Amino acid sequence: MDNSKDLRLVLQSKTPIIVIESHDEAQVLAMLADQVSHFRADSYRPIFRWTVTDGLQRLDIELEPQTFTAEPTEVLKHIRALTRPGIYVLLDYHPFLKDPVHVRLLKDIAITSEALRRTIILISHEIELPGEIERLSARFELALPNSEERAKIVQEVTNEYASENPGVSVKVDPKAFELLVKNLSGLTSSDTRRLARNAIFNDGAVSRSDLPQVMESKYQLLNTGGVLSYEYDTAKFSDIGGLKQLKTWLEKRKAAFRGNIKLQKPKGIMLLGVQGCGKSLAAKAAAGVFGVPLLKLDFSVLYNKFHGETERNLRESLATASVMAPCVLWIDEIEKTIASGSEDSGTSRRVLGTFLTWMSEKTKAVFVVATANDVRSLPPELMRKGRFDETFFVDLPTPSARMEIFRLHLEQREIDPATMDMVKLVKQSDGFSGAEIEQAIVSASYTALAHHRDLDTGLLVNELKGTYPLSVTMAESVAALRLWAKDRAVPSG
Ligand code: ATP
Repeated sequence: MDNSKDLRLVLQSKTPIIVIESHDEAQVLAMLADQVSHFRADSYRPIFRWTVTDGLQRLDIELEPQTFTAEPTEVLKHIRALTRPGIYVLLDYHPFLKDPVHVRLLKDIAITSEALRRTIILISHEIELPGEIERLSARFELALPNSEERAKIVQEVTNEYASENPGVSVKVDPKAFELLVKNLSGLTSSDTRRLARNAIFNDGAVSRSDLPQVMESKYQLLNTGGVLSYEYDTAKFSDIGGLKQLKTWLEKRKAAFRGNIKLQKPKGIMLLGVQGCGKSLAAKAAAGVFGVPLLKLDFSVLYNKFHGETERNLRESLATASVMAPCVLWIDEIEKTIASGSEDSGTSRRVLGTFLTWMSEKTKAVFVVATANDVRSLPPELMRKGRFDETFFVDLPTPSARMEIFRLHLEQREIDPATMDMVKLVKQSDGFSGAEIEQAIVSASYTALAHHRDLDTGLLVNELKGTYPLSVTMAESVAALRLWAKDRAVPSG
């Protein structure tokens, strides 16, 4: 990026009004002050900063603020009356642009600006200009720091820590340094510096343990909508019973996803299957195994909360996911890409189109895990070959998977599986999902507690016997799901 050069060109361009949308006011002001300090003596122009609280104040030399100009109309009248060259930076003037008097005053200033060598610069997080002002203005977009510049910032922060803590050496893990620089992409210079500062100043080290916190803070800076959520809970393969094929598939692609080997990055997978059998857990494990953050995109929120603005919000959320790369984007209930009820089918089609285009064009390391229970409402476009790398069917757990699930959930509750008759439990839980097995352990533990005794096989078997699993209560739909998946998906277990 060369913000300085571009800014110099806009300042020289004689454009009367320059618009800069940025959250990074301090950085833009510093850049402008730097430009002015390089002006030649014969073309020197003083620079002023205006806020509604302080009025105009010189930026290039120390002078008291001119508080009489704090009022938004006064400042424009004041500038209009001046005949000297100058650069006037108006911070957060955007709410006052709605007033026709201000529009006229800005026009008056702009008309004589070339002769008087005056420039107005508007800086706010968001600026909507009235049409007549738009014609007199140019928008300047701040480029974000590239990887070299980010590395420089992180290095500067490291040096800063060292100079503030004499005698203490900063421990820098080179690989963590590299990952930190990579993960800070997509942020402004001052946000990059702030996050690097948080990471380094907490323990005087650049280590891998800093990375999750950096990604979480980055997500908070980027996320302005409500469709994406940051999932703090990821999982490990060892948290999942069964799903062996799926685990192997993910493990094999780990290196390619991380960019450690020169193979095409995996795009994503679709997980279809019986409720409560570990699809969500698998999405969490994908993030855990790849060692990246997990973002969840909720289409039902998209339709319900952003009525009428669904596409824009989806685009913004997908853009956020791209900036957060490398990450896993989990789309729960992807069948909801087609809204039911409230929105018209035209919107649904466009939303699906936006998503599919993004999927096919994405170049960033965003691994999509889409999960679905209801295959009947899956839009056929989603299932077309090549959309996802693979479609897995997550069926009810096999006996050996049930054994693992029992073991896992007993151990999670600090109960030794060796005290149980595991074979009996596996036999009794035929047709149970992972969620139902977990539920049986929870319920039986309460029964044990109520009777002041330890949980044992007998209590668990009673609990299982008294439960009608989904495979019984919804036998037909489970059978239909299996039939549907037979030729369309590969088994996950
Ligand atoms: P749904 O479609 O209802 O969202 P799902 O397939 O996504 O279901 P999960 O949410 O992953 O299922 O499962 C619910 C809970 O059941 C999990 O949090 C976990 O505790 C337990 N569970 C389900 N399957 C397994 C499994 N294979 N191994 C270990 N635990 C499991």
